[in-house]
Amino acid sequence: RAKERGRNNYCFYGPEMDHHARRRLTIESELRHALANGELEVHYQPQVHLATGALTGAEALVRWRHPQRGLLLPGEFIAVAEDTGLIVPLGEQVLHAACRQSRRWREAGRPDLKVAVNLSGLQFRRRDLVEQVCTILAETGASAAQLELEITESVAMADADGSAATLASLRRQGISLAIDDFGTGYSSLSYLKRFPIDTLKIDRSFIQGIPADGDDTAIVQAIIAMARSLRLSLLAEGVETRAQHEFLLAHGCSSGQGFLFGRPMPAEVFYHLIPCAVAA
Ligand code: C2E
Ligand code: CA
Ligand code: CA
Ligand code: CA
Repeated sequence: RAKERGRNNYCFYGPEMDHHARRRLTIESELRHALANGELEVHYQPQVHLATGALTGAEALVRWRHPQRGLLLPGEFIAVAEDTGLIVPLGEQVLHAACRQSRRWREAGRPDLKVAVNLSGLQFRRRDLVEQVCTILAETGASAAQLELEITESVAMADADGSAATLASLRRQGISLAIDDFGTGYSSLSYLKRFPIDTLKIDRSFIQGIPADGDDTAIVQAIIAMARSLRLSLLAEGVETRAQHEFLLAHGCSSGQGFLFGRPMPAEVFYHLIPCAVAA
């Protein structure tokens, strides 16, 4: 929730604003350079089956190996990438890298491992999205069955009819679809019936409070009950403690992702986790 608030809440004036605007311009031109020079890399965060600890896949998360500033997290550059449209080529590079990894996993004997890739609104609404995804699958030799695409509720709802059509054609290709940051979009839930969604990812902000916070506990239990009756898969984001793990398991949430199971890590490090189960 803080993510959206932070982005729209600038109230700088005078020299402060100059500073802010200059900083964005710097990030923009450096980011162009980064895209052309291969400074972006993709890290992989394990996703696990909560009951067994078995690895089920990973979320692909972009990082920027900045020549002066070191490894930068998306919080430092994704908003600029979205405002400038650079998120489109950035997202394409991420998808490429993620698909290449999923092919490696398949060749290592794990065709069951999925890679989840974030799509921004700009990417999702491009007319040629489905074609582009198919081209990348073909170029990398990745299988659609190993790919999951994540969009947020607000992206899905911005143009519900268009979204339903795009999601349906991605689904026809055999790609899985997840709603990211579920519960934070303040939108009606009716779209869950209309969209061919596979998975809901319960936002970290709700997981943080369990099992102590009564509101978060109630919300998470309600989401679990709803997903079950709609036959959607569920994954809890931001699982950090054993108590959270146990609560989720006891209440019927099947999958999780979070620092308890593993932080985002370079492709090589993740690759070496593959043979063994990741257990908390
Ligand atoms: P997200 O899609 O919700 O990704 C999950 C974020 O939560 C990641 O932050 C991850 O490192 C963090 N996280 C995972 N487990 C835990 C935990 O147990 N505790 C805490 N405190 N945090 C945890 P990251 O990598 O900094 O990414 C932030 C956001 O940037 C992502 O949120 C996503 O919205 C965006 N993003 C990242 N990569 C891409 C990309 O390739 N394309 C697009 N469009 N957006 C991306
Ligand atoms: Ca995500
Ligand atoms: Ca998320
Ligand atoms: Ca989140």
